[in-house]
Amino acid sequence: MATTRYKSPDYYLVDELLTDEHKLIRGAVRDWVNRAVIPIIDEANQKHEFPRNLVKELGEIGAFGSYIPVEYGGAGMDQISYGLIMQELERGDSSIRSMASVQSSLVMYPIYKYGTEEQRRRYLPKLASGELIGAFGLTEPNHGSDPGSMLSRFTDEGDHYLLNGSKMWITNAPIADISVVWAKDETGCIRGLIVERGMKGFTTPETLKKWSLRSSSTGELVFADVKVPRENLLPGIKGLKGPLSCLSSARYGIAWGVIGAAMDCYDTALQYSRERVQFNKPIAAFQLTQKKLAEMITEITKAQLLAWRLGVLRNEDRATPAQISLCKRNNVKMALEVARESRQILGAIGISGDFPIMRHMMNLESVITYEGTHDIHLLITGMDITGESAFE
Ligand SMILES: Cc1cc2nc3c(=O)[nH]c(=O)nc-3n(C[C@H](O)[C@H](O)[C@H](O)COP(=O)(O)OP(=O)(O)OC[C@H]3O[C@@H](n4cnc5c(N)ncnc54)[C@H](O)[C@@H]3O)c2cc1C
Repeated sequence: MATTRYKSPDYYLVDELLTDEHKLIRGAVRDWVNRAVIPIIDEANQKHEFPRNLVKELGEIGAFGSYIPVEYGGAGMDQISYGLIMQELERGDSSIRSMASVQSSLVMYPIYKYGTEEQRRRYLPKLASGELIGAFGLTEPNHGSDPGSMLSRFTDEGDHYLLNGSKMWITNAPIADISVVWAKDETGCIRGLIVERGMKGFTTPETLKKWSLRSSSTGELVFADVKVPRENLLPGIKGLKGPLSCLSSARYGIAWGVIGAAMDCYDTALQYSRERVQFNKPIAAFQLTQKKLAEMITEITKAQLLAWRLGVLRNEDRATPAQISLCKRNNVKMALEVARESRQILGAIGISGDFPIMRHMMNLESVITYEGTHDIHLLITGMDITGESAFE
């Protein structure tokens, strides 16, 4: 149903805030999602498989590193274009958006921002084209919300670094050619290292049995005395602000992305409610259905405006990490609630893979946890407005 009849809601004419270029990019990604993602994504989810054949095409449509300068293989676009790309990809599936988010914000961004010129030239064009797949290793089995306490360590062995430790819940880990890994040096300072597949002692076991993001490849990064060449250290950043700055970029993309999932659920529920007849009336005619739909479009519209404004601030380099937290937290919760309400409108068939809603709902359970949990983002807002940390 949603495959061919999707109509993107725009209740407040937010389109008028976009440039022609924004609309062109969004249209191109939307067409690609309709053609390449929608027809295969339910089956990929049912089979718990990442559709790897889409990676090169994602590169071709400019979904990797859209805001990275052209000279490094990116598209040199602005932040709103990046957001719109994420929105359209997540309308297809959060797994596809997650893959592109990680590649762009968590792998290309730190290499561009903190890498050497040699690292940029070596990795960025291939990451942009999809020739290389990247992963970002911050979370550990015992350190999720508190990455500053991480245990992964490396020592300076003269001609190389020796890396030990493990990372868990890492998007793209089993398929990644390179991983940007955050670990502590001998002084306890967090540094970024580029770890390549094939390095001795480096393994990437897959995490199976997920009920969420089933079309995303998730796994561990395990380091047992891995010799990392000295030239693979990211020289331009020290401390937790390195990974946190990458997360700011990715969280911004999520704040847009989830609007796509919410729009798909809302549009599906709206169409269904007009066609489904009970008690001799379309269920859209019942007040309780209208309440659900009216609240959904209200929240989607608020989320669109929030994301757009955040994009403007990011274009001007004025968005704070706390503002990004507010938008990520609000928009993911909004999308999850829209998915749950849409599922109710479809009744029994809402749980079926013939409709996208249950898949979006399950995906969003990961999205509300990764890149900072819902509660952690609330604490960031709380700290920002009161000046008091309630983390410890
Ligand atoms: C599908 C998926 C993909 C992921 N991809 C990546 C990736 O690519 N790279 C990566 O590095 N990580 C990734 N993650 C990990 C993700 O970022 C972490 O799961 C997240 O940061 C939360 O950590 P945790 O799961 O260890 O939960 P915990 O930190 O153990 O938190 C558990 C609960 O305690 C709460 N809590 C924790 N501290 C506080 C506090 N101070 N006050 C109040 N409540 C608190 C949390 O809000 C949460 O509800 C991924 C996760 C998933 C599910």
